[in-house]
Amino acid sequence: MGRVVSYNDGLSRCEFCGKNEHQVRRLVKGPSSAICDECIQLCMQIIQEDKAKDAAKDRRSLPVPSRIFDYLNRYVIGQEAAKKTLSVAVYNHYKRVNMELSDLQSDVDDPDQIPMVIRSDDGQTAGVQADPALRAQVAKSNILLLGPTGVGKTYLAQTLARIMNVPFIITDATTLTEAGYVGDDVETVLQRLLQGANGNLDRAQHGIIYIDEIDKIARKSGENTSITRDVSGEGVQQALLKIIEGTVASVPLEGSRKHGEARTVKMNTRNILFICGGAFVGLEDIVRRRLGVHESGFSVSRAQSQVPDEDILAQVNADDLEEFGLLPEFIGRLPVVSTLRPLSVEQLRQVLTQPDNALVNQYRRMFLDDGTDLEFTDEALDRVADIAMEGGVGARGLRGIIERTLEDAMFEIPDRDDVTKVLVDTEAVDGLRPPRYLSDRSPRKKADRRKA
Ligand code: ADP
Repeated sequence: MGRVVSYNDGLSRCEFCGKNEHQVRRLVKGPSSAICDECIQLCMQIIQEDKAKDAAKDRRSLPVPSRIFDYLNRYVIGQEAAKKTLSVAVYNHYKRVNMELSDLQSDVDDPDQIPMVIRSDDGQTAGVQADPALRAQVAKSNILLLGPTGVGKTYLAQTLARIMNVPFIITDATTLTEAGYVGDDVETVLQRLLQGANGNLDRAQHGIIYIDEIDKIARKSGENTSITRDVSGEGVQQALLKIIEGTVASVPLEGSRKHGEARTVKMNTRNILFICGGAFVGLEDIVRRRLGVHESGFSVSRAQSQVPDEDILAQVNADDLEEFGLLPEFIGRLPVVSTLRPLSVEQLRQVLTQPDNALVNQYRRMFLDDGTDLEFTDEALDRVADIAMEGGVGARGLRGIIERTLEDAMFEIPDRDDVTKVLVDTEAVDGLRPPRYLSDRSPRKKADRRKA
């Protein structure tokens, strides 16, 4: 009698797909069962898809403005006014998105569905009438952020996208041109947002787009536009108008062009929140002139000329922006305007250590990963903030200063088993001598410290 020989006898198998431990890269075994890496991957994918579906269903659970504000506070130093304005604007934007979704679900054209109780003077119920407010179409409010470089305009927009859990991209207005000219046309921006949403059209249609350097596409004054078309200024504003307000754009799918005609997808931009940012250099003079003229009748008053630029900029209005070179229609689509202030040297220092992902903590983590701690003396942190202040590029300069200070240490430390701490003092920040390498006497190997 023949005997069936199983060469897999005694081998553990994945409970889900039945493959044995030699057929898969990794078999994770529990006390009574096992699962392979491929099945884990599949399960994760299923859970991820469920989460995405839940998120879509659960749009109603919006964080209230005060919660958005608290969250922004954890990451962004100062800029209280902008944080407040943005918290409200973003809340309202997504509330409007939710309203439109529920309008689609219920037939709001039926006035009986939205009753309003009318009371007579004596407080008795006199009748029931539809409240027109409940049928109002809420207009879209995009946001304009004004303020010098490195004060947190982009960072605020990015942090907002994180709290709202929506895809986010940053684009630069100076790279945009009217369709047909060399450069990115506005559809490319939408294409990038779609990529940022991993191809999920629904998610992309609720994303946030930050357009930097919006002041650089101001109309070029004095230019004869009938001879020289202003393709990078007014033309781009015109091109942006539609997508900012809300339109259905044909967005080319990435990589589809090589198979002949590019495939496109219809993308509705109505629920995409656009946040535009710019330094608007010179705008304060326009505002100052208006305020001065207003006060003294014909010239900038002495008192006005002494008010700091940032306070003047906070009083900007639509006329000033038009005089700067933005088209009135464009300004009309950015009704929420907020001004960010230059960061003080104390605030620059706080950026180094206070936010949840403060710069010093980011570098500390990099060093700890190599089994070495990193410490800055208080004076060193002050010095970093001072140098950044002198640089005049706000918090943008901080990373570069730390990077330069730590460059040699980051090169050497991975090879140094004996160093337990790198100490950065003012001399190190000034580049007068390298940061100090400290070692404790414990014979613990670096590899052990890494594990710890
Ligand atoms: P901009 O105002 O030019 O858009 P960013 O937002 O890009 O400046 O700032 C550059 C970097 O500086 C950010 O990535 C962030 O790390 C840091 N930063 C700027 N402003 C702040 C702030 N107010 N609070 C915390 N970090 C900030």
